[in-house]
Parts: sequence; C-alpha cells; structure tokens
Amino acid sequence: MLEVETVDRILRMRGAGLPVLSLYVRFDPADRRAFPSRVDEQLHEVRLLAKDSSMERDSRLSLRGDIERIEEAVQQERLHPQAVAFFSCSGRGVFEDVELPRSVRDRYVVDETAWVRPLVAVLDEYHRCRVVVIDRGRARFFELYQDEVVECAGRLRDRTLRKPDYAAGMREHTVHNKAELLAKRHYRAVAERLDEEARRHEFDIIAVGGHDHEIPEFLDHLPATVRERVAGTFSVHPREDDLGRIRRRAEQVVERYERAEEQRLVTETLERWSSGGLAVVGLAECLWAGATAAVNQLLVQDEVVLPGTVCDNDGYLAVEGDRCPVCRRELRRTPDVVDELVQAVIDEGGSVEHVAADTPLREHVTAATLRFRPPPHPAV
Ligand SMILES: [Zn+2]
Repeated sequence: MLEVETVDRILRMRGAGLPVLSLYVRFDPADRRAFPSRVDEQLHEVRLLAKDSSMERDSRLSLRGDIERIEEAVQQERLHPQAVAFFSCSGRGVFEDVELPRSVRDRYVVDETAWVRPLVAVLDEYHRCRVVVIDRGRARFFELYQDEVVECAGRLRDRTLRKPDYAAGMREHTVHNKAELLAKRHYRAVAERLDEEARRHEFDIIAVGGHDHEIPEFLDHLPATVRERVAGTFSVHPREDDLGRIRRRAEQVVERYERAEEQRLVTETLERWSSGGLAVVGLAECLWAGATAAVNQLLVQDEVVLPGTVCDNDGYLAVEGDRCPVCRRELRRTPDVVDELVQAVIDEGGSVEHVAADTPLREHVTAATLRFRPPPHPAV
C-alpha cells in the first residue's frame, strides 16, 4: 500500500543544488521479465547525462548513485502493480520507490524537485477511507486504501453501564438515562477524533460499521464537516475480529460511493455540454481538447482501448490520419490513443477520472470539462 507519509516525503524531496531523478516505468504483471529492460531503456539516457561534463561533478556523482540505487531496486519482488515510480537523490541520501495501481507512461525527469504529477494523478482517483467500527462503548479505526486495510492505533473504550449498576438499586429510568449519557459521551469522543483527523486530511471518506440500530445515533453526533464525508454504513458485529470481513464490507461502501461519484461527474459534464458550457463529449473532440491543453477534468470509460495517431512533434492526437494537420509531419500510429490522451491531460495538470459505472459514457468513451475553449480544429 502506498502510504500517505511516503507521498508526503516525495512531495517534499529537494535536491538543494543536486538533481532529483524521477523515473516512471510501466509494469506488466503478465510479463514481469520485461520490466528490467524497460527501466534500463530509461536509465540509458540518464547514464549519458551522468557523463555530461557540462553538469557539475557533484550532480553527476549523485545521478550515478541514483542509477545504481534504481538498478538494485529493479530486482525486488513486486506483487501486481501497473507501474513503478522511483525518486532518488543519492547525494542527499533520499530514495523512494512506489508501486502504482494504474499504468503511466515510461519516462524520467531530472530536476531540482521530484516530478510528481503522474503519481498525484493516479492517487487522486483513490479515496482514503477511514473505517470506524463502533458500538455504544467502543470504537476501532481502520484505514482502507487501495484494497488494503490497516488498523489505526488508539481504540476507544468508554464506560458503559453494566449489570452491577442495577444491583446498586438505581431506578430503571435513572439507569436508562445514565446509559444514554455515557453513550452520548462516547459518541462525542469518537466524533471529535474524526473531526481532528479530517482537519489533518488523514482521510477523504468514512465508512461506519456496527449494529444497524446504533449507527444512526452515532451519525447524529458527527459535525457537519465530518458527516458529509460519510460514504456509507455497513452491518458488522462491533467485536468482529476478522479483518478480511471488515475490509470486504467497507470496500462495498467505497465501491458504491465511487460509482455514484462517477455517475454524478458524467451527468454534470454532459449537462454542461448540452447547455453549451465549457465541456466536450466524444473521443475526437476530447483528443483535440487534450492536445491543446484545454482539459480540466477528463472522464474516461474504464478499460476502453482504441487505436489512433499521435504527432510526436507537437502532441496532436487523433483517431485517424497519416499527416499532422498542425505541422504536416507524419503521425505515429498508437494501439491506444485513449491512453495517450490520459497522459497528455496529466502532463498539462488536468485531472482524470476512470469511469467504471454504467453511464452514457459507455457510448461516448470520453468527455471532459474544459479550462477554456480550444482553438478551431485545423483539419476542419
Ligand atoms: Zn504535428
């Protein structure tokens, strides 16, 4: 699992005068042996750079250290990522490698800071979910992120009223009131903790598990800013010890939430488009918007692969054609122009949402909201 702390460390990476090498390489779980040679292909150019005498000696030495460190890391066993990103500045003693759940374009960047745009774009699509399993006296907290669940430190256990209190001779309604009071105090303590975590951006959404009849009462105690992050609830015994069961239930909540969000994004984009607003629908229009850096958010039908053409000179993208209408050079054919579009949008700082839900996007393949209206298409 990609830890939030790791991403923070990468975002803060600085060379302070030395280069930071960022390297992204696709990983095909069905062809693991191809990975080292893909990495090597990228490193080839970095090796040339490390020999370039126009670069300062310390920088060259640091780059050489980066290359060695990555060559080592390539040998590591990997489960099933779609891509691996390496960030290294050996001269400053920093190195990170992260496995990404989506594929990215192979490439490297040498700069003062880590080049994180593809990393952030991939992670944007995954919601960090805080899972709370609660009853009237206890609460446990979990983090669910990219199919993995980890229990957070600090279970809460507040006082509840137990049988001996009856023996103490309290009248029934007094007992009831006291039990209610303790439960409320407990729910408030849990709400406060979630509120603090939300302020620290420790999660995006919340899934609440417990007895069906107790959950609504707890939800009533959440402040509005926390309440609006509750993606859903699930039924589970508050003392459930099977982490796998908690994970599956919470994953269903996240899944439903994500599909609903996709539905909403598609609906909003199509509405904006049909009312003449800043949006485009359909692959051909999105390719042109992507090639002109006009895309704000791209919606892509998940797992759709379509061939097309690319101009490596100016980034022109199209479904077909032999010659670039912008620069007249020959176009490169690609088996997946949708992916080229995704990468172009990420490169230009736009966001991408893959849509798995059943929406009208199945028919359109792509749709996008725009930052500005792209110039007229040169082929038209
Ligand atoms: Zn061109």
